[in-house]
Amino acid sequence: MTSSVNNEKKKDTALCPLCGKPNLCAMAANPKATECWCESVVFPEELLAQVPDDVVRKTCICQNCLEQFQESTK
Ligand SMILES: [Zn+2]
Repeated sequence: MTSSVNNEKKKDTALCPLCGKPNLCAMAANPKATECWCESVVFPEELLAQVPDDVVRKTCICQNCLEQFQESTK
């Protein structure tokens, strides 16, 4: 049994730090999740550089922003 007391102070790890939309990270939605699409992709350093220091590598960039970045670097 897990307590849900801490849920009200939920961090914004479910929101993309770049566009503010849901990043659909499985781990943000469920801390017990061990797999997420974000584990199977590589986030380019240039893209990570756009994420504020305090959330980088804690909060997922959404798939949309990743794809947009990849499009723009083609
Ligand atoms: Zn995004």
